[in-house]
Amino acid sequence: MSRGRLFILSGPSGAGKGTLRKALFQALPDLVYSISCTTRLPRPGEIDGLDYRFLSPEAFHDLVEADAFLEEACVHGHRYGTLREDVLRELQSGRDVVLEIDVQGARQVKRRLAEAVLLFVRPPSGEELERRLRSRGTEDEASLSLRLKNAEKEMAVAEIYDHVVVNDDLEKALQELKALILSYRSA
Ligand code: 5GP
Repeated sequence: MSRGRLFILSGPSGAGKGTLRKALFQALPDLVYSISCTTRLPRPGEIDGLDYRFLSPEAFHDLVEADAFLEEACVHGHRYGTLREDVLRELQSGRDVVLEIDVQGARQVKRRLAEAVLLFVRPPSGEELERRLRSRGTEDEASLSLRLKNAEKEMAVAEIYDHVVVNDDLEKALQELKALILSYRSA
């Protein structure tokens, strides 16, 4: 059986990558989503073990010490990481895995697994990004301004990515992402 492919989805907070990722998994249900660990608190409606594995800073630290992460980074003041074993096991069994992680994490994975495909989702403009983040209503003003500042930095490194998808229209962006994944599968 051939090894699965690893796809990394990144993009600034508010670019719509979460919504896009969920639509992508409906369109291609055989993809495996890697559930990240984080020290951030759950937002209303988020479920431990489904959206994230919500960990205490101590538990996260222990996993770092045990070298359990394929990548890990501090994003918007909280720690996030991908457990190595989970990803490698799925790839070994021939399944394609999607990580939704930030650009620091994407760099780390690319260094370790050069065959990883890096996909960047960006909003049509900075103004649209701010409008989306505000209308989501999940962040306070401080977290919002941190996310907007980080968005500028993330967009500046988009060139390390193999493909950039502009999320102006969700359906169009979904079809683009799906076509990219299918093209790697048939290559
Ligand atoms: P949020 O707190 O809005 O769910 O995610 C904030 C940021 O953290 C997003 O850019 C998301 O892609 C990133 N992120 C989520 N999980 C991971 C992870 O496991 N590793 C890294 N490096 N970033 C992650």
